[in-house]
Amino acid sequence: MFTPLPDKPDHPALELEMLDVWEREETFRQLRERNRGGPRWSFIDGPVTANKTLPVHTAWGRTLKDVFQRYKALRGFDQRYQNGFDCQGLWIEVAVERELGLNSKREIEDYGLERFAHKCRELVVWSSAELTRGSIRLGQWMDWGRDYYTFSDTNIEYIWKFLKLVNERGWLYKGHRSTEWCPRCGTSLSQHELSQAGVYQDRSDPSLFVRFPLLDRPGEYVVVWTTTPWTLPANVAAAVHPEKEYGRRENGEWVAVELFPDDRFVERLRGEQMVGWRYRGPFDDLAPGASVDHRIIPWDDVTMDQGTGIVHIAPGAGSEDFELSKTHDLPVLMPVDESGRFYDNYGWLHGLSTLEAADQIIGRLGETGFLVEAGLYNHAYPHCWRCDTPLIFRLSDDWFISVDEIRPKLLEENAKVEWVPEYMGKRMDDWLRNMGDWNISRRRYYGLPLPFYPCACGHLNVVGSKTELRERATEGFEQLEELRRPWVDRVPIRCEECGEIVQRILDVGDVWLDAGIVPFSTLGWENPELVPEGFGTGAARGLTTADLPDHSYWEQWFPADWVSEMREQIRLWFYSQFFMSCVLVGTSPYKRVLGYEKMLDERGREMHGSWGNMIKADEAFTRMGADVMRWQYCAQPPDRNLLFGFGPAHEIKRKLLTFWNSVKFLVDYGNIEGFTPSWDRLEPDVERRALDDWLVERTRLLVADATDAYEATLTVNVVRSFESFVDDVSNWYIRRSRRRFYSFDDAAFRTLWYALVQSLRVVAPVMPFLADHLWRNLVQDGPASVHLAPWPEVVEPDRGLLAEIAEVRRVVELGRQARSASQLKLRQPLRRLVVAGASASAHGHSAEIADELRVKDVEFGEVEASELRVKPNLPVLGPKLGPALRDVRELLQRGEFEELEDGRFQVNGHVLEPSEVLVERVGREGWAVASEGGVTVALDSRLDEELLLEGRLLDRVHEVNVLRKETGLEITDRIKLWVPDQELIDRYAERLAAETLAVSVEAGDLRIEKA
Ligand SMILES: [Zn+2]
Ligand SMILES: [Zn+2]
Repeated sequence: MFTPLPDKPDHPALELEMLDVWEREETFRQLRERNRGGPRWSFIDGPVTANKTLPVHTAWGRTLKDVFQRYKALRGFDQRYQNGFDCQGLWIEVAVERELGLNSKREIEDYGLERFAHKCRELVVWSSAELTRGSIRLGQWMDWGRDYYTFSDTNIEYIWKFLKLVNERGWLYKGHRSTEWCPRCGTSLSQHELSQAGVYQDRSDPSLFVRFPLLDRPGEYVVVWTTTPWTLPANVAAAVHPEKEYGRRENGEWVAVELFPDDRFVERLRGEQMVGWRYRGPFDDLAPGASVDHRIIPWDDVTMDQGTGIVHIAPGAGSEDFELSKTHDLPVLMPVDESGRFYDNYGWLHGLSTLEAADQIIGRLGETGFLVEAGLYNHAYPHCWRCDTPLIFRLSDDWFISVDEIRPKLLEENAKVEWVPEYMGKRMDDWLRNMGDWNISRRRYYGLPLPFYPCACGHLNVVGSKTELRERATEGFEQLEELRRPWVDRVPIRCEECGEIVQRILDVGDVWLDAGIVPFSTLGWENPELVPEGFGTGAARGLTTADLPDHSYWEQWFPADWVSEMREQIRLWFYSQFFMSCVLVGTSPYKRVLGYEKMLDERGREMHGSWGNMIKADEAFTRMGADVMRWQYCAQPPDRNLLFGFGPAHEIKRKLLTFWNSVKFLVDYGNIEGFTPSWDRLEPDVERRALDDWLVERTRLLVADATDAYEATLTVNVVRSFESFVDDVSNWYIRRSRRRFYSFDDAAFRTLWYALVQSLRVVAPVMPFLADHLWRNLVQDGPASVHLAPWPEVVEPDRGLLAEIAEVRRVVELGRQARSASQLKLRQPLRRLVVAGASASAHGHSAEIADELRVKDVEFGEVEASELRVKPNLPVLGPKLGPALRDVRELLQRGEFEELEDGRFQVNGHVLEPSEVLVERVGREGWAVASEGGVTVALDSRLDEELLLEGRLLDRVHEVNVLRKETGLEITDRIKLWVPDQELIDRYAERLAAETLAVSVEAGDLRIEKA
């Protein structure tokens, strides 16, 4: 006996039940044990930042990871299943700052770095527990409790080792440059951080035209344009294009002629003739500007697309400006401090932020006659990815890894990686070609301590391990609670060159170093022997029981066969681990990548907490269920944004209900008829009908297609092949075989059971809960869980047979369309159907077609019952034909055209392509026609007395079935029937009785009674 199924699945309830069952039966442990020693498949998890509960977009990635790990497990692969948490860096700091109400670096220092570090760790402890809980609820199978935490001392030591090597190769240097800077976070940002989603946001800034009076040409000015007023007090020069023409307006203002073509100029010069002119700076009344000799310099990169063609140069507040200062030996004025506030030598500007200063600067420029015009300018401007503050440019001393020497190796290795979708590999290639040196330092607190100890003697000491630190420390090693600030700052070392005592720089590292080292730190690269629970060091102590394996383990599991993350990780995690791996061992750390695009809400907007359209994973688990979420993620082509929401979830539930109903059909009738299947006889090895043979082949096709899709890491194709299979089972096989289930037909039961069981096996990685729930019901003497059954054998299906039935289904579908166009009820029998364009193999199925469409007769041949109507596709054809369109349109309307090959038409000498016309086939009087892909069906919709009476018969049968349901009779109960239609009784009593299971049919008001 099967367990009876309710009318529809309660996804969340059955999922919670399955989680209990898996835990009780230790299903995952059994699976891992079964696969131990099997072929290895190495997946490395990109760490999730531990500062939050599980968000739905993270659940997307986690689902994909889980799907392929489950698939590989079904195929017998041994896997690691190690989950990772990202635990350091600004994401963590910003969340803790918010919690504590701290708003600046000074406030953090006042709070105390030790307390702050403990608070950061607390956040990670809470969040990693939350993320684990959410992931388990999602159905993700990982080795929970043995996760890697990037803030472990072990992980940090591996990065130290990497940095020491980079320094030995001569690639590490300290740069002094003008760089993007977040004034709130008080740190510079690297190029790859700027490439993250959400960094460029539209904003409105002042648009200022400002004129600088020329010292040697009284009454004349150069005019510049800027959208950053705060940089004007740092102005030292103005740049012109040496080759371009500049003109002086009557009022003395010089601008590029090209940008003001309508202006009248009284004097014209080439840019190079203006070079060297001196001018008075806009803020020479403040000390820094007063000392500057402002002049005009040449610059080939001055563009003529906006502004005035004369560019304001402030080397302390712009990166190109800074480069120019080196070429032209310009002074560098640095107007603002780490928090973006003016230094005190800027007089009345002192203490103002760059934004606060804008209005006062504009006001002042107006008073002093420097301002020509002020307006507003809308543009995409970079913001801090952590705190959303608009970025500024600021001079900064940062530590860099030079990339030029390793760049060719990176390109060569990337070319060996298989990227899905392919264009993401191209993006990686572009990035590798164009990226600048890697800025690895941040002026922050809770992060990887950079092990750099520069000495006054000029030597840079780089410490490569904790052991080395202990050996070289002059004091403080014993208080080293964790390898991080503030503890590590209290451990000075002795310079290896001169023996002086040196301090560590205060900077911490880019978080992408933390995540990038993972393919080495978690796999025990160059580690002499396994340290049980050796990853739980430093801040990770007590949080994980993950081992630190030895080098032979690394050799087994490196490189990863597969990694998968969002597209933006190309410049982040995909990049950092790739870079570090190429540096350390000269190869890519992964062979294959699955990337995917962004998640938006169901209407295509970004999800924001403040917009009220953010969906919490917990809410989605309760309202749609994990399987439905997973389905939504898996149905998404990876090259397009996912529009996630409850609307699409509803649609998925509807599709899954069709599948559920097919299983329920088997369960209901199987129980009535006492059907007992057996796992040992999975394939229906009984005498089968043609339709059963087809379903066997159809099932083989599903297995083959789904296997291909999993191998190509394209879940969207798994979902598509499953959906079309469900449609075939429900709307063809069951529909065409219903009666066989009413009268126990062993072949029908066995075949349907086989098809459903196989489909559960292939869909189990995508929908692990529902699949296992139904499996346990349908397969009672086989593996206890669908996840413990092996992957189904792939058998090449009979594609000829499948194509044949697919064509029959198309004819039937077209027939239904024609019927619906004719507005006749499907129950009304019709006389004749003509089919044109179908291949010969469909001819053998006329009885099925006739039955499905309720027609007496199906003919194959030319459809003369239809008329071809061709109209011009105006937006396309209009531009092509011009005035000739009118004629062509009229001739088409009158039917005066010739049909050519391949869907083209000829009209009065013009050949019209398929895209240029709209073609419609309509039935002539009395016919309903539908056409698609070269197949046309025409339905004779004329009715006669005979057909009408039969239509009435079928209406009655339908009414009786409804009545049967309403009165609560079982589908198998025999009845007595009264019908108010003597003619019907006279002609069709027997058929009426047979189709309603009536033992007697008499005249009277419509009613039934249990016999
Ligand atoms: Zn910031
Ligand atoms: Zn020294």
